Amino acid sequence: MNRLANFCAGPATMPTEVLQKAQAELLDWRGKGTSVMEISHRSADYIEIATKAEQDLRTLMGISDDYAVLFLQGGASLQFSAIPFNLLNGGTADYLNTGTWSQKAYKEAKRYETLGLGSINLVAQGGGKDVPTPDTWELTDGASYFHYCPNETIHGVQIFDTPKVNAPIVADMSSCILSEPINVSDFGLIYAGAQKNIGPAGLTLVIVRKDLMERASAWCPSILNYKNQADSDSMLNTPSTFAWYLSGLVFEWLLANGGVEGIAKTNRAKAELLYQVIDNSSFYDNAVNPRHRSIMNVPFTLADSELDKVFLEKSKNAGLLNLKGHRVVGGMRASIYNAVTYEQVQALADFMKEFEKTHA
Ligand code: PMP
Repeated sequence: MNRLANFCAGPATMPTEVLQKAQAELLDWRGKGTSVMEISHRSADYIEIATKAEQDLRTLMGISDDYAVLFLQGGASLQFSAIPFNLLNGGTADYLNTGTWSQKAYKEAKRYETLGLGSINLVAQGGGKDVPTPDTWELTDGASYFHYCPNETIHGVQIFDTPKVNAPIVADMSSCILSEPINVSDFGLIYAGAQKNIGPAGLTLVIVRKDLMERASAWCPSILNYKNQADSDSMLNTPSTFAWYLSGLVFEWLLANGGVEGIAKTNRAKAELLYQVIDNSSFYDNAVNPRHRSIMNVPFTLADSELDKVFLEKSKNAGLLNLKGHRVVGGMRASIYNAVTYEQVQALADFMKEFEKTHA
């Protein structure tokens, strides 16, 4: 087996044990003579897989019956549209922009103003290195909802404290879901593309407080309507069955490995390893305000960008894959989601120190 350390931002590395389990039951799932991807989503066998995945996620995140859990498609990006369609309800929604992804969500929502569906208010605009402090936020009284992105995947900017606002909070948790315990009841809606901490691409998770599902605009396409999806157990049409199944295996893996509380400790320690190397050197730099440094995505630059190519080539040769930063930020980025092990991050930290010695 030659599985290397994969620091890709997404689709990201999956736990090896999960892939092994999927491999073992790929051709013949539990003696049924077919694979999971070959059975009807409406069959009793599949419903069992789907229900178990939802139950395990509810256990992992402490999700109460006040919330619906939806397993949808279209990525987090489709939720940028689905959210105003379902929740704006002729009012004003507040958006906090802290990087590329919250900016995209804001821009997409802004288009709905032209439909006369309501208004979209920019609360504050961050520059990708810091988060505007709450005292500068221009909040709307009685806003329909407040949208933000707790972890900006590209910039590596994380907001650790849940914002204190009076509107239902909508959070794009694509790159931080299941990385640390959160209090779900603080949120009106949580959404995430699966391809980082949940499973393979093709699945989008939406956790929505049930009372908020009653507000959808008459324009809302049925497939985007949360109430419709909840009433049909996310099976209004054919769901992403295999991705849902694999995500269920990831939830089982997480439960067997200390749950979210357990993985959070390792995640903190992993991030600490890299930030220490960066801070103890004048060769590497991370420009994010230390209070908002992401524990999932660690971007860093080298003192001389001419060395980027060499760094990428040598790290790849050392079995450390996909460290190229996003083009918006440049430099490097190590995405260290749940399935990236402490040992792999240690190997990266060691490589960085060695590279600095030979190239600084
Ligand atoms: N939000 C965040 C925070 C992301 O990291 C990403 C993907 N990298 C997206 C939204 C878009 O997700 P998708 O590709 O699933 O639409």
